Amino acid sequence: MNHDCIFCKIISGELPSAIIFQDERVTAFRDINPAAPTHILIVPNKHIASVEAVEEADESLIGYLYRAASRIAREEGISEAGYRLITNTGANAGQTVFHLHVHLLGGKMLKLALD
Ligand code: 5GP
Ligand code: ZN
Repeated sequence: MNHDCIFCKIISGELPSAIIFQDERVTAFRDINPAAPTHILIVPNKHIASVEAVEEADESLIGYLYRAASRIAREEGISEAGYRLITNTGANAGQTVFHLHVHLLGGKMLKLALD
C-alpha cells in the first residue's frame, strides 16, 4: 500500500469507486472518465508503479490480471464483439496514475488511435 497512490486508496476502500470485481490479487473498477461504453481499470492489489517496475516475482500476477480482464470482458458482454486492453507506460504514453493498470475498453467500434 502506497499512501500517496489513488489506486491503492481505491483498492483499500479509502476512496470510493465503482468496484466491479475484487479478490486477493486484483481489483477492477469503472474509470471515472470513461472513453467508451465499457471502460474498466484492472489493477494488481500490490502497488507496482508501472510495467517498468514489474519484477520476476510478479510474472504470475500479471498473467492473472489478464485472465481477470478476459473474464470481466465476458461478464460485460463485450467478448465476442471485441475489446481493447491498454497499459500506458511513462510520460510519452500519457500515464497519469503510477499504479500499474490495464484499461479495458469496449462496447463500440474503437478507432485505432496511437496518439
Ligand atoms: P492513465 O492515463 O494513467 O493510463 O490512466 C489513468 C486513468 O485513471 C484515467 O483514465 C482516469 O480517468 C482514471 N482515474 C483517475 N483518477 C481516478 C479515480 O479517482 N477514480 C477512478 N475510477 N478512475 C480514475
Ligand atoms: Zn498504488
